[in-house]
Amino acid sequence: MNRALKIGILEGDDIGLEVVPECVKVMRAAAARTGLDLDWHPVPIGRKALDTLGSTLPEGTLDKLDALDGWVLGPIGHQAYPKSAINPHPILRRHYDLFANIRPAKSYPGLPALYQDVDLVIVRENNEGFPPDRNVFMGNGEFRPTPDTTISVRVITRQASSKVARASFELARTRPRKKLTSVHKDTVFKLGCGMFAEECRKLAREYPDVAYDEVLVDTFAMKLVMKPQQFDVIVTTNTFGDILSDAAAGLVGGLGLAPALSAGPQRAMAQATHGSAPDIAGRNIANPYAMIMSGQMLLAWLGHKHNEPKAVEAAGIVERAMERVIRAGQVLTRDLGGQSTTRQMGDAVAAAAGSA
Ligand code: ATP
Repeated sequence: MNRALKIGILEGDDIGLEVVPECVKVMRAAAARTGLDLDWHPVPIGRKALDTLGSTLPEGTLDKLDALDGWVLGPIGHQAYPKSAINPHPILRRHYDLFANIRPAKSYPGLPALYQDVDLVIVRENNEGFPPDRNVFMGNGEFRPTPDTTISVRVITRQASSKVARASFELARTRPRKKLTSVHKDTVFKLGCGMFAEECRKLAREYPDVAYDEVLVDTFAMKLVMKPQQFDVIVTTNTFGDILSDAAAGLVGGLGLAPALSAGPQRAMAQATHGSAPDIAGRNIANPYAMIMSGQMLLAWLGHKHNEPKAVEAAGIVERAMERVIRAGQVLTRDLGGQSTTRQMGDAVAAAAGSA
C-alpha cells in the first residue's frame, strides 16, 4: 500500500466526546511507532452537528465518508434527540453494508470480573433479523393489526447468513483455537434459524481447518454463563448476538470493556458496544478501553483489507500497550477498580504504545 489510510473521527454524543479523542490518541501513537501513515478527517455527527449544522447527519456526511477507508464512531445518544432528528446508525449501517458486528469479550488477570481466561468473539449479523429498522421488505418490521395485538417480523436471508458466516470462519481461522460455534434455535424457528444454520453448515465444508459446532441459543446462554472459556468465535443472528454479547461483556467486567467493529465489504467502523452513557458524561470518568480497542480492531481490519502490514503491527502494539497498562494496575478508571480519569488512562495507553 503506498498511500495513507484515510480515517474519520466521528465523536458522537455524551461520553463519545471524551473516549473518541483517547482512541485517536492511542491509534496515532501506535501508527507513529510503525511508520504507518494515517490521514485523519473529523466528520460532524450527532447532537453537536445538530446544534451547529442543523442535522445529526448533516448533508455531505456520506460523501465525506465515501472518501475514507474507515472511521471511529463514538456512541450516538439518539434516544435524547428531538423527535424530528435523524438516528444516523441505520443509515450508516445500510449505506456501507456493515453486515458483521464483531464483539470480543476478553478477561484480564487483576481486573474485577466473574471469570479469568475468557477470550471469545461474538459475530452478530447486523443488517437483518428482528430489529424493526432492519426490515427492508416492510419498511418497519413491527405492526399492530388490532389495538391489542403486535406482530414483530424477523428477516433472515441466505445471502446475509452466508456473508456473516464466512466472515466468522475467516476470523476463526486467524485465531489459535480455530473454533466456530453457530448459535441459533432451529428446533423452534425452523425456517429462519433453519436457513441461518444451513448456510453455516455449507460453509463449514469449505473450512475444514476450523472446528465447527452448533449450540441452541438457550443452551448457549447457560454454557456462556457457566464456562465461557470453552468458546472461541461465535456466529449468530442479530438479536441473539446483541443480547449474548452484553452478557459476555458482563462476564469479563462490564460494558466499559466491550469493544466492537462493524465491518462491510469495503469499509469498517470502530464503535464500542456501550451507549453514550449520559449518566456519567462530562465528568472525565468513562472507561476509554472499549473505544480504544474498537480502534485497535479497525487498524487490524484495515491492515488485512489493504494488505498493509504496518496497520496490523500497529494493532498489535495497541493490544500489548493496553495489556501493559492493565497489568500494571496503576492507571485505571473507576469501573475497573481504579481512581484515574478517562484522559489519564488514554495517556497511559498512548505512552505504552509509543514505547512498545
Ligand atoms: P444504548 O441503548 O444506547 O446502547 P444503554 O441504555 O444500554 O445505551 P449505556 O449508555 O451503554 O446504556 O450505559 C449503560 C451503563 O453502563 C450506564 O450506567 C453507563 O454509565 C455505563 N457505561 C457505559 N459505557 C461506559 C464506559 N465506557 N465507562 C464506564 N461506564 C460505562
